[in-house]
Amino acid sequence: MKAPITMNQAQVYGISKQNSKEIFQFFQKNFGCTRKVYNLCVDSCYKQLEQAGYTNGDDLPEFSFPKVSALKKDYPYLKEADGLGLANSVLDFQKAYKTFRNQKDRSAYRKSALRRDRSGKEPLSFRGLKGIPRFHAKSAGYFSYRTACQYPKEGNALKRPTIRLEGSILYLPKLKHGVKLIIHRKLPEDAHILNATVFMDTDGTYQVSICYSYTFLMEMDYREAAAQEQPLPKETSFLGLDYSQKDFYVDSEGRKANYPKYYRRSEQKLARLQKSICRKEKDGKNYQKNMRKIQKLHAKIKHQRHDYLQKLSTELVSRYDVIVVEDINLRAIGGCLSLGKNLHDNGFGLFREMLAYKLWKKGSCLVRIDRMYPSSKTCSVCGVVKPDLKLSDRIYICPECGCVIDRDYNAAVNIREEGKRIFLTYLKEAMEKAEEAKIRQEAAKERRQKKKKTA
Ligand SMILES: [Zn+2]
Repeated sequence: MKAPITMNQAQVYGISKQNSKEIFQFFQKNFGCTRKVYNLCVDSCYKQLEQAGYTNGDDLPEFSFPKVSALKKDYPYLKEADGLGLANSVLDFQKAYKTFRNQKDRSAYRKSALRRDRSGKEPLSFRGLKGIPRFHAKSAGYFSYRTACQYPKEGNALKRPTIRLEGSILYLPKLKHGVKLIIHRKLPEDAHILNATVFMDTDGTYQVSICYSYTFLMEMDYREAAAQEQPLPKETSFLGLDYSQKDFYVDSEGRKANYPKYYRRSEQKLARLQKSICRKEKDGKNYQKNMRKIQKLHAKIKHQRHDYLQKLSTELVSRYDVIVVEDINLRAIGGCLSLGKNLHDNGFGLFREMLAYKLWKKGSCLVRIDRMYPSSKTCSVCGVVKPDLKLSDRIYICPECGCVIDRDYNAAVNIREEGKRIFLTYLKEAMEKAEEAKIRQEAAKERRQKKKKTA
């Protein structure tokens, strides 16, 4: 059985290079102005903390944040940028501040701050705390702005939505003639555009991500079975994936992903470029030329990786109803030097996210089993747990039944079986969480509207 479900989704389009110079200048102006507004917020936050004599670990005071209208008076050039983009910048800062305020531990310092303190360059202060909002440096690559779509309503003089996609032309606030996009895929017919983010990639190309909500028919069999605690429909196919450093993953049918290591492939070229750049004078013409080459290569590797992961995840989701993975902490593994490079090269975390939203759309979900579950140590044939398994043991030999299996394959089978066991309860919890989030969002929206009315 199918039922209509409304979901938010984003679609990224490339911005055509045929657009006029003025359009790209307009984007650059917006990137600069939104960054300026964010930095002004950070500056005002630091000043207020200083005045309050804030020391680390204390509870944070409520702040008055700068308003865009006031900032425009001090910096008239901000008027040339998209006002909603600036407002979103303030909202982004508020979110960052709120996250910091709700952080459990607000007394730890960043490593770089401790280092500066040791070398006597800068004494420790709240500026070096972990998680505190920081200035956005141009050199760190903050080249984006997000604008919201406004619709004609009572009380405003709008005739059409401010963001529209007509053919291959995207209309954005303050861009009367629109901007030409490279359309490789259409938006759904009933797509209700929420916002658009224009950004510049590291290779210097411009892209826009359009976020929209739309309604589609979702298969409800699993969701209903989960909600009413009924047994699983019989022909449900499960797949377990065990993360592997070498092969990306090994699945519960014994196949390896055979992942092309894009970063490793380009590593030599990258090393050569990086070597030549350190011989060049910084900020010279050749330095910049070389830098662009490096950035382009990085972008290429990224695009190759994304493309591969998108295709692979789509294929798996079309073949299996439920996919089970281990909820391993990838960040902890990535921090480990000998293993890190492979991990960042293959993007297993991104892959998990892709699987998650694709399965969700299918009416199922990605099951993440507890990371304490002994998937490698359990025998997939008889169920005995072998406590003394080392990381170097590539073959699993069962002490009880004597079977000999590949270590990763054994783990993948165990992951699949554990996933089978918990799938429906897991799905039920996920549905409840999604419902709660929706209710929270709507409540926040109502609060905002009330605030507007009283103001
Ligand atoms: Zn056994």
